Amino acid sequence: MTDLCLFCGIIAGTVPSVKVAEDETTFAFMDINPGSDGHILVIPKRHSKDLFEIPDEDLTAVTLAAQRIAKAAVAEFGADGVNLLNCCGADAWQTVFHFHLHVIPRYLDKTKDRLVLPWQPGTPGDLEAIDTLGSRLFTTLDGQLSEALE
Ligand code: 5GP
Ligand code: ZN
Repeated sequence: MTDLCLFCGIIAGTVPSVKVAEDETTFAFMDINPGSDGHILVIPKRHSKDLFEIPDEDLTAVTLAAQRIAKAAVAEFGADGVNLLNCCGADAWQTVFHFHLHVIPRYLDKTKDRLVLPWQPGTPGDLEAIDTLGSRLFTTLDGQLSEALE
């Protein structure tokens, strides 16, 4: 619990919200500026700033809750699909610094759906750059794994 955190306030009930689900570890409520009809946020009750800080057990619980809620939302709202989204860091669009997963039902009917992809799907990448970046990350992750096993 952090006094200055908006989402901690929602969990505590000092900030109003439209709750859709709650269990021991997680809380889910409607987003106030929905990207589509039925946009939901799923958060851990224990405060973590972001994806890098959240403990394994809270991340697992939030992800499983988001899956359950996504299935229910698609069925209940008659959606055609669903996106899960996490923003980590201000430059990656994070505006509230209490970890959350967006559950965003998607509709063919665009009167219900205001989401657009921020990049042009199908634009071919630079194959050399893809290979270089992939190889660098593989080496880093492989090194971390070896260190952990030592
Ligand atoms: P972020 O940009 O950090 O990934 O997402 C923050 C989300 O929180 C946004 O989609 C925003 O609409 C939502 N949000 C911000 N303030 C409130 C609030 O007071 N109540 C609710 N229900 N959602 C909020
Ligand atoms: Zn918080």
